[in-house]
Amino acid sequence: MNPIKHLVVIGTGLIGGSLALALKKAGVVERVTGVGRSRENLELAKVRGVVDDWTHDIAAAVADADIVLLAVPMSAYESVFTAMVDTLPATAIVTDAGSTKQSAIAAARTCLPDPCRFIAGHPIAGTEQSGAGAAFAELFEHHLCILTPQDNTDPAALQRVQSMWEAAGSRVICMAPEEHDDFLAAVSHLPHLAAFALVNAVRKQGNDEHKPFEFAAGGFRDFTRIASSSPQMWRDIALCNRQAIMHQLDALQDELTAMKLALQADDGEQLLDDFKAAKTARDAWLAQHGEASS
Ligand code: NAD
Repeated sequence: MNPIKHLVVIGTGLIGGSLALALKKAGVVERVTGVGRSRENLELAKVRGVVDDWTHDIAAAVADADIVLLAVPMSAYESVFTAMVDTLPATAIVTDAGSTKQSAIAAARTCLPDPCRFIAGHPIAGTEQSGAGAAFAELFEHHLCILTPQDNTDPAALQRVQSMWEAAGSRVICMAPEEHDDFLAAVSHLPHLAAFALVNAVRKQGNDEHKPFEFAAGGFRDFTRIASSSPQMWRDIALCNRQAIMHQLDALQDELTAMKLALQADDGEQLLDDFKAAKTARDAWLAQHGEASS
């Protein structure tokens, strides 16, 4: 791809920082400016070579940007967009990495003068860590990145953002934002809520002598890893994709109810069928897609 002269990363955390590092490693970006609220995090980003310079001032940062990436929690979108409208060059492309796409597009339509040059995106990669200290250049390698263009999206801007994610090692696909939000509710948002709920259910148990966590091992650790993710980020995702997530919670609730009924009826056959179906589906997914993280 043609090098990006000036990339502005608003939210220099795990995702924004990792994209900056990946593009630097690929040699396709000349200058990266980090924008955020925490001085400590931005200074760490500079020390780690994630950014070349940093500022708290969104309007000043975007004034000569080629590409602006939002990698902030979903609740910050409107204020971030609003802060850039007066100084954003007409030629600049704005894109994002947020986990819900209909809300991102709605915020861009409300706040940006030219939403056709906003390319909504979501890298399907991550960890439960936060901040610039957790960023690493290889995060997106061999992972999908989903872009959700609209009918009026500028095709040249779309192509440029696609090339950017490909340079970071991702495989890019496009889909409708509604479809993205429905699928991600099932395979990302529901598991996070289930992990938070499981930890809460367990932490409330125990007696004066012992707590259940004392006896937890690999199974509990694997299932609950993502409950160590940022609570603020997940509150925002949950609220931005409420309808789809509520639908998925109903689906999970139905499965749990069926299991409870099988237990009540002492129905080992039913339990075995359910467990076998789940194992077969998960094994087939792993065989096809490998041990994908996030
Ligand atoms: P993070 O907490 O590591 O980084 C977010 C950064 O945004 C922080 O540095 C924070 O200080 C900054 N920030 C918060 N509010 C801000 C504001 N109003 N103005 C400027 N900066 C602000 O989070 P992350 O994991 O990098 O997630 C960033 C985005 O990427 C989120 O929208 C999330 O939904 C999405 N995402 C996360 C993952 C994941 O696994 N962590 C994966 C894919 C997409």
